[in-house]
Amino acid sequence: MSKPATLYNRLALIGVGLLGSSIARAARAQGAVRSIVATARSPQTRKRVAELGLADQVVESNATAVEGADLVILCIPVGACGVVAKEIGPHLAAGATVSDVGSVKGYVIRDMGPHLPKTVHFVPAHPVAGTEYSGPDAGFAELFVNRWCILTPPEGTDTKAVDKLNAFWRLLGANVETMAADHHDLVLAITSHLPHLIAYTIVGTADELQNVTRSEVLKFSAGGFRDFTRIAASDPTMWRDVFLANKDAVLEMLGRFNEDISLLTKAIRNGDGKALFAHFVRTRAIRQGIVDIGQDSPAPDFGRPHPGLPHSALPKPYASDD
Ligand code: NAP
Repeated sequence: MSKPATLYNRLALIGVGLLGSSIARAARAQGAVRSIVATARSPQTRKRVAELGLADQVVESNATAVEGADLVILCIPVGACGVVAKEIGPHLAAGATVSDVGSVKGYVIRDMGPHLPKTVHFVPAHPVAGTEYSGPDAGFAELFVNRWCILTPPEGTDTKAVDKLNAFWRLLGANVETMAADHHDLVLAITSHLPHLIAYTIVGTADELQNVTRSEVLKFSAGGFRDFTRIAASDPTMWRDVFLANKDAVLEMLGRFNEDISLLTKAIRNGDGKALFAHFVRTRAIRQGIVDIGQDSPAPDFGRPHPGLPHSALPKPYASDD
């Protein structure tokens, strides 16, 4: 079967961590772009990106990276997107599509939008796929396969530009959905942001227990705690920015969560086994629904290959952020 046509001429990646390096690997593997130019904040990361051969060109500045690019993707923490948009704004080619991979969309649109010239198409995106690993070594070409990528183009965005970016993500293996940024932020607050907050909390709580030693926590972690520790190992900068940027939606979901946990607390206190059982039956069905639609499997993440990392560092079977 012949390969699909190249979609973009020159892809500029700003930030080459887990997401940026996965896009570079996947775009290359699929022939989605003719060439890739990459840049990262630190000289160490730029050096590593060059060593790994992730891009045709590795440049020092964001402004240089975007020159002549018809697709620019910011793969950096959401809190940094506004500053970078201001920096690249005057250097963007007319007609280019500017996108990102940030886990919060309303904030990114508000922060980046004003700095982008009217001559470019701004199509924010969020590939709902990840692991708890960071940096250019952590990425892999299959990261987006069978995962969702959500596009949140502001009203009035050129539909041809949106369709083309949609085709790009499909070529990388993702399923694509378009929705309003605020709706995205509400959905992700419950499906991703709150679970991460709970994991960060529970791991911290266990760490502070005086009468349970650290060695016991580690030894008996297979009792459920282990899965939380994996999520709580996710990048601190990324997650700090997510909670600051999606404050309202997270607080809304946290309020609902607190109400529900109070009900379960009451059921335990009252010895109300019926209420607990009914609740757990309902949640088990939700889990089955996720497996049924192919968003998780009992096998380790579809057994995807993971070049570049030692076996011990293989991504575990869950999609982090997302
Ligand atoms: P990562 O592996 O930590 O890589 C982050 C990249 O951003 C690095 O190249 C880093 O440069 C650069 N960077 C960090 N702070 C910066 C700043 N203030 N200014 C400019 N560049 C900066 O992170 P990632 O997991 O790829 O996440 C990137 C984005 O993807 C985030 O917005 C996150 O919300 C989103 N996302 C993450 C996941 C996930 O599971 N990890 C999933 C979906 C979406 P240096 O290496 O030089 O420091």
